[in-house]
Amino acid sequence: MGDWQGSVAVITGAASGIGAGLARHCLGLGMHVVAADIDDAALEALHAGASTVPGGSLQARHLDVRGRDAVEALAADVFERFGAVSLLFNNAGVLVDGKSWERPERDWRWILEVNVMGVVHGISAFVPRMLAQGCPGRIINTSSIGGLLGGGPYLAPYQGTKHMVTALTESLYQELAVEAAPVTASVLCPGEVATGIWSSDRLRPQEQHNVLGSAAERQFHDAVAGSVAAGLSPDDFAREVFVGIEADRFWLLPQPAFKAQLAQRHESIMTATNPESLLAALAGQPPPAVES
Ligand code: NAD
Repeated sequence: MGDWQGSVAVITGAASGIGAGLARHCLGLGMHVVAADIDDAALEALHAGASTVPGGSLQARHLDVRGRDAVEALAADVFERFGAVSLLFNNAGVLVDGKSWERPERDWRWILEVNVMGVVHGISAFVPRMLAQGCPGRIINTSSIGGLLGGGPYLAPYQGTKHMVTALTESLYQELAVEAAPVTASVLCPGEVATGIWSSDRLRPQEQHNVLGSAAERQFHDAVAGSVAAGLSPDDFAREVFVGIEADRFWLLPQPAFKAQLAQRHESIMTATNPESLLAALAGQPPPAVES
């Protein structure tokens, strides 16, 4: 187990789900945790329920990762206060599902701005400071198994953004490897973790909520949301994430059950075979009847 006591973790999307599990885990290791999120009520609940151990602390910060200046201001404050960051989790994310050609432009913009530009803002604001801090650091970007598997039905906006997070983190890792500083990167690819990700609409006004136009989409949404709700607890998941971090892994894949599907995708690419329907596999049940 690494000695994390007194070191600093910055976590975006820390108020609930995976981010909150990571925050609690870091606090248990005696770290100073800067928990940043757009959801103030959930941040307050995290703060109220958190217990710190000697040497550590929790600071809850309102942050919308879509704002470059806001992320830059957070980084400036954190470095002024602590001087170094050991772990930066660019974790905030939202989910939009449904037929790609029916998603309104606002859905595409929302998910791109949070899932992709939020990560980009974190990298731009923190990496230069971490390279200059003179001690080790790691940037952990939350992608998804959807950022490794391809083209799940009704998941174009989500999987599209997650593929970008995976690819940009691979580039970041390569770029950091040639710098003369002990700073590196990992990509975190969760499978099913019991969180609020399938109710991301709670974070935007009612009139902007996603309306799924067909029974097949609604059935798919409910089935996947159900299996995510039955997934790992965020606290158990956080423990597994740290096993990978302490083993110095780039690929943080705490739930390896999807690897057969990944091999199937690669086989389909290598042999130029058309993709099989993923509808049943993703929803864990037979494919719904297609509406006429
Ligand atoms: P969650 O909804 O419980 O947590 C996401 C957090 O991000 C929330 O606290 C939310 O308020 C915050 N957030 C959303 N928009 C924000 C913004 N603009 N600025 C700052 N914070 C914002 O869901 P989660 O599952 O814990 O999601 C965490 C990450 O894990 C996401 O990137 C998600 O895509 C990824 N992920 C989750 C699963 C899963 O099964 N839960 C699987 C794969 C990937």
